[in-house]
This record gives sequence, C-alpha cells and structure tokens, in this order.
Amino acid sequence: MVSQNHTVHDKSSDANTESDGSESALETARRQLRHAAIHIDIDPSIVERLKYPKKVHEVTVPIKRDDGTVDVFTGYRAQHDSVRGPFKGGLRYHPEVTRDECVGLGMWMTWKCAVMDLPFGGAKGGVAVNPKELSTDEKERLTRRFAQELRESIGPNQDIPAPDMGTDPQTMAWLMDAYSMQKGETTPGVVTGKPPVVGGSKGREEAPGRSVAIITQLVCEYYDRRLKETTVAVQGYGSVGANAARLLDDWGATVVAISDVNGAMYDPEGIETTSVPSHDEEPEAVTKYAENIISNDELLTLDVDVLIPAALGNVITKENVEAIAADFVIEGANGPTTSAADSVLAERDIAVIPDILANAGGVTVSYFEWLQDINRRAWSLERVNDELDAEMQAAWDAVREEFEQRDVTWRDAAYIVALSRIAEAHEARGLWP
Ligand code: GLU
Repeated sequence: MVSQNHTVHDKSSDANTESDGSESALETARRQLRHAAIHIDIDPSIVERLKYPKKVHEVTVPIKRDDGTVDVFTGYRAQHDSVRGPFKGGLRYHPEVTRDECVGLGMWMTWKCAVMDLPFGGAKGGVAVNPKELSTDEKERLTRRFAQELRESIGPNQDIPAPDMGTDPQTMAWLMDAYSMQKGETTPGVVTGKPPVVGGSKGREEAPGRSVAIITQLVCEYYDRRLKETTVAVQGYGSVGANAARLLDDWGATVVAISDVNGAMYDPEGIETTSVPSHDEEPEAVTKYAENIISNDELLTLDVDVLIPAALGNVITKENVEAIAADFVIEGANGPTTSAADSVLAERDIAVIPDILANAGGVTVSYFEWLQDINRRAWSLERVNDELDAEMQAAWDAVREEFEQRDVTWRDAAYIVALSRIAEAHEARGLWP
C-alpha cells in the first residue's frame, strides 16, 4: 500500500498516556487503532477518518409504562464505517449506554467484521435504560418505538442490528416486526439474532460462545497444550460464557470456575457445566447452585491455564493485572481488558486473544442468518457449525501469520489484519465527493 503524506489534524484527546478503568470504550478503541496503525504502511488520513463514526443517530424514545405514566429514554445508533458493506452490530439496553460507548463499540464491530472478512461495516447502538426495571410489555413498546425512530437509518442493505447486552432474540423479533409493518413487507434481513421461526439462524445464540471455545482450542494446539490437561475459569454465565464453558468441558478441558453477577462457583476438580443453568435459563443461578463461592475478582486471578472474561468490559485493569495468573486470556466479552492492563499482560508474556477474533462467531453466524434471510432458505445446524468452524480457522490463520511475521501481540495481529483490509477498501473506493 502506498502511503501519502497527508497532514492530519488530530481532533481527539487520546494522548499517549496510559489510562485505566475510567477509560471509555471509545478511548480504548482509538488507542488500539493507533497502536495497530504503527505497524502497517497505511495512509494516515484513513486512520484519521477511522477514528470517527460516519454518523451517530440520537433519538428520544418515550414509552407508556404499565401504570399509564410516560417515561422518556434516549437511544443511539452509531454507524462507524461501511466501506466493506452495510453497517452491522448489536443494540444494548443498559443504564450506562452513552453516545461515546456506542461509537467505541461500533469501531470494534468494524474491525471484527473485517478480521472475519465479512462483507459488513461496524455499528452499535442501544437505549440508556435498565431492562430489569421494565415489564415484558414495556420492553416491547420501547423496542417498537426505538425501531420506529431508527426506521430511516436501518435496513437489510443499510444497517443490520443484532442482540447485545440486555437484548435477546425476542427483542429482535419485535424490531423486525415493527420495521416490517411500516415497510408493508416482511423484511427478516433487517436484524439478525431473531428466533429461527421468523428467519433467525440455527446456532446463532450459541455462536459467540462457540467461537470462544474454537479459538481456545486453536490456542492450545498452537502452544502445544492438550485441552484435556487445560484448566479454565470463565467469568459470566450468559450466552457467551455458558456456551464456551460447556463446549470446552465437552471437549475435555476442566472448567474450574464460572460466575454470575453475585460471585463465582469454584471447584478445582472441575464443574459439571451442563448441570448449572445459564443466565438465560435461570438468571443468577451460578451462586444459587454453588457450594464453594469465591468473588468475581478472585476468579480473575485464579491460577488456571485459560481465563475467559465473558461478562463485562474493563474487568482486567491495572489494579488486578499483576495478579492475573492464567497463561492465556481469551476475550469473550467486548473490551474486558483496559489498555494499561493489556500492556502489562504483554510484558508478562500472557497471550491475550482479542474479542474481535474470539467472540466473532456471533456476528459471523449473523452473516449466515442474513444470507439465509435474503435467499429465503434456512441452513441446517450442521451447516452453520461447519461453516463457522471454517471461518474461525481462516481468521485464525490470517491473524497467526501476522503474529508470527511481525512479532506483535495477538491483539495487534488481529488489528493489522482488519485494518489492512479496511484501508485497502478505502483506497480502492476513494473519497467522495
Ligand atoms: N453484539 C454482538 C457482537 O458484539 C453481535 C453483533 C452482530 O451479530 O451483529 O459481536
């Protein structure tokens, strides 16, 4: 790639300082972008462009509560980059959703889709609301109104939302229905992660956890570890954590700890993962079923081979990073490691496989779902899982090649793969007008 000497004006405030838990997703995403860009010959104006979203939609979402009163919430959709295809990414319902968080998470979606070589760009959105304080009917009204407010900005060829924190297949079914009703035609391809009965894909819900398990297996092979002799601690027992833990357990690893929001179940002999309900099956069941409870912080510092943070962002911080005792960290959640902690893990030679690769099974099966919706033909679960295996292997091979050739961290290697593809597409398309 030919680099031109553009003068770029750095509008951002992401100076070269190490920050930590207070660091926003946007700051982390920009820092990671800058870090990866150092390694490749890329037009600096493209890097500059990628620091900002293409558009951010901010909408007001009023809903009637069950008691007849009206509450007003704020919703966002940050559309980061669409050079490789329509915007793609989840919608979260969480009290801490902000504009900047959506932008940062949308940037990660751009890299995630590119590292998987999917024909999508990146976006993220959500509503600043605590979904636990909404009844099912209120959640439905909120979703339908949010869909209505976003109607002009989303669509199967424009921007395709999916589930994220606080949203699920039912939310996607309401969204698809609201969009389709206004459009006058059933449009399943407008969202992914729907229930299979309305055009969802088999295997979509398990996919992020499955990709975490597949990557863990590939990491073990790469470092000559046998899965049967590998101990694993998993933070979070939602769809990512529970599916990853159960698959790894099934493939022979020993899962010694799993957790919910109240604490962790710990058994050095190994937990029978199928006997503990996941968050979706029974919320907060892990601590209810546990005999031996430790804290979530203790889980993170257990002396295990593989640590899988699969709950929240910013859980491995400069405060606890020195105590991390695992050999490998496989990021199941989006953004679980702060930048400062990431540098320390690199110095300590602890391999961190980044979220944009490890949990990318979700958006990959979203892509399969979108293909099925467009073609009006459902795939078998076997086909979904076989194709997911192949996509994960291909992405792993591309990242591994950069890791070996450039002697960088796994995160940088994944960013280099993603950024090279995105930059090439930008160079090919050029700037318009
Ligand atoms: N929210 C998921 C993620 O962060 C899935 C996005 C999608 O399928 O579009 O990867």
